[in-house]
Amino acid sequence: MNKIAFIGLGHMGLPMARNLLKAGFNLSVFDLLQAAVEDLAKDGAQAASSAVDAVQGADVVVSMLPASRHVEGLYLGDNGLLAALKPGSLVLECSTIAPESARKVHQAAQARGIELLDAPVSGGTAGAAAGTLTFMIGGAASTLEKARTIFEAMGKNIFHAGPDGAGQVAKVCNNQVLAVQMIATAEAMAMGVANGLEPAVLAEIMRQSSGGNWTLEKYNPWPGVMENAPASKGYSGGFMAELMTKDLGLAQEAAQASGSSTPMGALALQLYRLLLKQGKGKQDFSVVQQLFVE
Ligand code: NAD
Repeated sequence: MNKIAFIGLGHMGLPMARNLLKAGFNLSVFDLLQAAVEDLAKDGAQAASSAVDAVQGADVVVSMLPASRHVEGLYLGDNGLLAALKPGSLVLECSTIAPESARKVHQAAQARGIELLDAPVSGGTAGAAAGTLTFMIGGAASTLEKARTIFEAMGKNIFHAGPDGAGQVAKVCNNQVLAVQMIATAEAMAMGVANGLEPAVLAEIMRQSSGGNWTLEKYNPWPGVMENAPASKGYSGGFMAELMTKDLGLAQEAAQASGSSTPMGALALQLYRLLLKQGKGKQDFSVVQQLFVE
């Protein structure tokens, strides 16, 4: 494998691409935002002028885009990347999208003799920068083995979730839990502070007690409790509330498709929609804290 084309250099894609460069892969990169492309070119990547330009001579494509429509737009159709790639190429699609949409792209890839994995991630921007992401992979196990060294350059835990689309199912289950935990942490922080506790003291007590969870461990929503958390940087960076809302919507679709009862996920979706109506969609998802403070 000589050359990797990396498409989508946002909060997650940029640090992931950097880790591939650090691991010695030859990278050509593209994003609709020119600044991100230039940023990586300074680190040694080849700047491409379009996605099709990026895949010229590439054996592997990694993509990290916002949502289903961006992924389908990138790969499908006469001008899509699948039409531009050689048979035998490998596509690692890392965005969080609908399982249905992932299966559609899988089928189109198969028809052209291209191996594809849906490989959404968990671990946030910090995990992307540290190269410690968790990958949840759907597709053939033999394809995963071909791609393992690439995943290992960006992540620590590489899980084979199951067949085509299974990575996306695992991801929406995980993010539903994450959203519910973030909301539960935010409302408890607000209640404790309103009753006279110091935020940092309360946060540490809960972190070390039975209420402990990932948001208390790594991502406290109360400003100033964790120096490096988005909450302490005006809720900037991190994982946008509008992307969490998208994932909660995907979780509800999965629940609908299987007849599963997911009342916590449904409530979480409604609360995140409220945040979007308040104009906070571009802020980190821990901004849900502000629903509970005056
Ligand atoms: P982002 O919005 O910061 O980045 C997406 C990038 O894709 C942008 O730079 C955008 O310009 C680019 N883009 C969109 N369409 C494109 C196209 N057709 N061609 C080239 N570039 C295009 O989003 P992000 O936070 O990096 O998230 C990316 C994906 O990863 C999402 O599906 C998200 O749900 C998922 N995710 C995010 C996090 C996180 O903490 N931010 C964690 C896990 C998973």
